[in-house]
Amino acid sequence: MQKANDLHITRRHFCKSAIAVGATLLASKTAYAADNAASNTMKGKPMPITLPELPYAQDALEPYISANTLSFHYGKHHQAYVTNLNNLIKDTDLASQPLETIIQKTAGDAAKAGIFNNAAQVWNHTFYWHSMKPGGGGAPKGKLADQITKDFGSYDAFKDAFKNAGATQFGSGWAWLVLDNNVLKVTKTPNADLPMAHGQKALLTMDVWEHAYYLDYQNRRPDYITTFLDKLVNWDFAEKNLG
Ligand code: MN
Repeated sequence: MQKANDLHITRRHFCKSAIAVGATLLASKTAYAADNAASNTMKGKPMPITLPELPYAQDALEPYISANTLSFHYGKHHQAYVTNLNNLIKDTDLASQPLETIIQKTAGDAAKAGIFNNAAQVWNHTFYWHSMKPGGGGAPKGKLADQITKDFGSYDAFKDAFKNAGATQFGSGWAWLVLDNNVLKVTKTPNADLPMAHGQKALLTMDVWEHAYYLDYQNRRPDYITTFLDKLVNWDFAEKNLG
């Protein structure tokens, strides 16, 4: 957390308005798009993409996801995507753009795969941290629960689809709950790929790269997936994204 706090304070030092944005930082996809827009275009001068703060302490998801995993996954992997992206966009037209614009402008462009991969991984990880919370897990309530029942038949049917997507994503990637033309769907994407590159709105994600679970679960990806759903999933975040 210390490193993230330092970055956050640095940004506040440069732009007071970031504090207002920061108050709702990452409460929703929209909020963090706005934050990135603010953080790298202050005073008309391109600012680097920053590593957003984790929404909880690094040990807050224990015993399900260890502080050791988060220290590497957030502090090393997520940070590396931020650093790589800033190096790749430095002195280019993309340096002054919000993160989501960088993703949209490079998706499907083989010549810009490195920028897309790092930008999408910055976005995906921030979204993933918010897709979990201490004391999370179990079935959703309210509007989202109703729509899950309508579109999947039952919460159990959703769970089966989500578990299957995570378990069958061959190699690295992500499992998602998305809104596609106003219908909820479970999808999986390889590597850094993400719903916004396919015209879908992300509601929730689960990282199934090995670095997400290997220190805690070794090869038992299905156990990590079950734990994600039963103990960690943040339905408040997903419902906010539903709008
Ligand atoms: Mn990851």
